Amino acid sequence: MSDDITGGCLCGAVRYRIFGKADGTCHCHCGCCRKTTGAPMVTWTTVARENFEITQGDLTSYASSDEGCRSFCPHCGSHITCTHEDYPDYVDVTVATLDVPGKIPPERHIWASKQISWVTMDEHLPKAKEI
Ligand SMILES: [Zn+2]
Ligand SMILES: [Zn+2]
Repeated sequence: MSDDITGGCLCGAVRYRIFGKADGTCHCHCGCCRKTTGAPMVTWTTVARENFEITQGDLTSYASSDEGCRSFCPHCGSHITCTHEDYPDYVDVTVATLDVPGKIPPERHIWASKQISWVTMDEHLPKAKEI
């Protein structure tokens, strides 16, 4: 369908598709996102699991906390998804691995209290209450 959103890892081994609309998009400043990606923060979009499909290749996973699990391309290491035990019906997908990341703009910051001091961006976006 023309509304589908596609993405993939750096090396091309893993490809995925998001059907329909995302359920929210945020910049996450938590330490776990920083360490697993090596980036100052990660922009995630949340989609219903039934609306997310790996269309090529396989991801490898790492339990980044008691509740969270992060998945990567086993070849190039691109970080593709994050899932959380408390939200089994949803998957977070890295916006930066979309073929056209500009299609899903961020809506808010989360874990803003952990934001690196020199990161300044999108100050007009709301900072969500921490969970
Ligand atoms: Zn790859
Ligand atoms: Zn995070």
